[in-house]
This record gives sequence, C-alpha cells and structure tokens, in this order.
Amino acid sequence: FESRLFQDIEQPTVTRDNCHVHLLANIEFAHEVSDARINQAEGIGLFRTESLFIEKQTMPSEEQQFAYYKQVIEQMEGREVTVRVLDLGGDKILPSNEYQLESNPFLGWRAIRFLLDRPNIFKTQLRAILRASIFGKVKILIPMVSSVDEILKVKEILKDVQQELKNDKKEFDPHIKLGVMIETPAAAILAETMANYVDFFSIGTNDLTQYVLAMDRTNEMVSKSFNTFNPAVLRFVEMSIKAAHKKNIDVTLCGEFAAFPEAIPLLLGMGLRHFSMNPFSIAGAKKVIRSLNLDECELLFRKIRKMHTTQEIERECQNFVKERI
Ligand code: PEP
Ligand code: MG
Repeated sequence: FESRLFQDIEQPTVTRDNCHVHLLANIEFAHEVSDARINQAEGIGLFRTESLFIEKQTMPSEEQQFAYYKQVIEQMEGREVTVRVLDLGGDKILPSNEYQLESNPFLGWRAIRFLLDRPNIFKTQLRAILRASIFGKVKILIPMVSSVDEILKVKEILKDVQQELKNDKKEFDPHIKLGVMIETPAAAILAETMANYVDFFSIGTNDLTQYVLAMDRTNEMVSKSFNTFNPAVLRFVEMSIKAAHKKNIDVTLCGEFAAFPEAIPLLLGMGLRHFSMNPFSIAGAKKVIRSLNLDECELLFRKIRKMHTTQEIERECQNFVKERI
C-alpha cells in the first residue's frame, strides 16, 4: 500500500471531474522541508517558527532567523512558503523568564498578543522574514487573531519594518502577502470584515475546535468529545471559507482536520481548495481527492448541514469515503 501511494504521488491532485486541489505541507523544523519536497507538496502552507525559539535559551538574533528561514525558502525553489510568526503560549512555552505561569494559558498571553506587547521581538522576526523573502515566494501569517484592531497594529509595525529595511538598503519583497489564522470564534465571526484587511486566511481547526467547544486540546479527560465534526465547529469553518470566497481572498485549512480522509470530501463540498498538512499525509489525501467527484461532495455537505449530532455527521463522512476508495 505504501509503495502504491508513492507511485500516486507523481499524479496531479485532481478530482475525478478534474478540479485541481492544492496540497501544501505543514512544517515545524527547517529540516522537514525535505519531507515536503519528497511528498510533492505544492508549497509550505504553514511554517511554524516556535521551535527555533524554544530550542535556544535566548531569543534568536535577526541573522540566525534570516539564515533559518532562507534555507527553507530556497529549498522550495519558488513554491510558496507561508511563515507564521511566533505562536508562543498555550502548549508552546518559551524556556525563559519572559513567561509567567498563567492559570489559563490557552486564554492568556499568547501568539499575536505577546508579539504586540514585545514589539522588538516581533520586529526582529519580521525583518528576518522580509529579508529572506527575496529568495522565493513568501507570505506572512499571524496566529490567534481575535480583532481587526490587532490586524491594524500588525500592519503598522510591518510598514515601519519595511521602511527601516529600505533605510538600511536591505532588499525585501515589497508585495509580500499578509494573512491571519482563523482559529478563534471571534476571527471566524468577523471573517468577512477581516477579509478587507488581509490577503489570505488560514483556518486552524486545532485551536478553532478548542475555542468553539471550550475544550482544552491537550486535556485527555475531554478528548473523546473534542471533535471537529461537531456541527458548531463545522459552521465556523464554513463561515470562514464562504467569507474568503465572497471577498475574493485565498483560504487554506491547516489544522489536523485537513488530513482526515473522511473530512476531505466535506471540506471540498464547502468549497475549500487549499489543504495544508503533515508532509506524510499528502499521499493519502491525494488518493482520496482523486477518487472524488465534486458534485457528490457538495451533496454530502448539504446533507451534513441538516444533521444534528457529531456522531451521525462523522459516520456519514466515513461511509462516504469508504464507498469510494
Ligand atoms: C491550529 O490551531 O489548527 C493550527 C494549525 O496551529 P497550531 O496547531 O500550531 O496551533
Ligand atoms: Mg493554532
């Protein structure tokens, strides 16, 4: 089965009725870029940058970050690389005294909230990403956004950094795209509004599920109910995809859900065309996509939309895939 999947990896990612679907890779470490290439990822849809910060005891310098991002970007040879700025907090804690113990770390001082309070750390990272952007096709992604106010602050800082680089005669891509993670209920509800301010969305179903259901994604006591097939979560995902389409911006889904074979037809039925996942899930996802018809996926979505329980939705999606591959 493994080797058969590997032969299929050379095939185009199209549905039976010839709709092209984009499969991108999520990576956490620069060295994983080779896994992305081997598995024929069209690009890096999510380059998490926490590991560089967590490995080092001190904040990595601009030069260290620049070299780190550049190697990934160069190895992708012009394919897009979406670099997510530091998503600290929650389950990703920095081994430094910057961080206080919080009683609700997932609701606390994390990701963009931390970066906006530490503009020097934020600016250093943006400078490094911008300077590396001339070596390929780079996009910047902001995690854990919950208001337009945050986006406006980010854009202001990005503009300042670009001006500084110009003054320093450092090259960068002046048209670099800026996007936000849709992973809080606030962002999903405001998606249509937020789309006026950014170039793309990336839906993070790991956190979105956690925050919509009010269930800690790391707590095993609730893991049996932590399910993205819960119709409430699906409604938020649908809302985000539709908002992006309406406002004509790109939307990718980069949570674990993107790689669930039984979720793929449902997401296609909602209109999603960009999936970003663990590089080793790409071959399996491609196999599923190549066995599907888009109009059947749309029918599945309409059927699911009327269902009330997580269990019947999940079962319907599982049977749908089972019948086809
Ligand atoms: C997510 O929340 O779905 C996501 C992709 O980001 P992370 O898992 O890094 O929080
Ligand atoms: Mg997240």
